[in-house]
Amino acid sequence: MPDTKNYTGGCHCGQVRYDVTADLGSVVACNCSICTKRGALWIFVTPENFALRAGTDDLVDYQFNKKVIHHLFCGQCGVGSFSRGQGPGGAEMIAINVRCLDGVDLTALKLQPFDGKNL
Ligand SMILES: [Zn+2]
Repeated sequence: MPDTKNYTGGCHCGQVRYDVTADLGSVVACNCSICTKRGALWIFVTPENFALRAGTDDLVDYQFNKKVIHHLFCGQCGVGSFSRGQGPGGAEMIAINVRCLDGVDLTALKLQPFDGKNL
């Protein structure tokens, strides 16, 4: 059953802040090269459910491989709190790093392994 809630989140230093509406019922733990190194845990939302409140000018874009995903991170503290990309069918999707949301009990999350390494 969907359990959609409003969350706030952002980077470590506070320059990058956002609001997001999401269901944390299933969180993706990807094993690709960048997710492994970052330790990111992901949920995916549509642009209507995401609002960047601060930090547009502080974001640095990192791209690699096919360059379809914008792995944005804060130029001041280096934390990648969200990424922008396209879902299946080309629609814009925002990937939220659940570790960067405020007040979330990370130990209570149900993790869904994703084999990004072998895509
Ligand atoms: Zn920061």
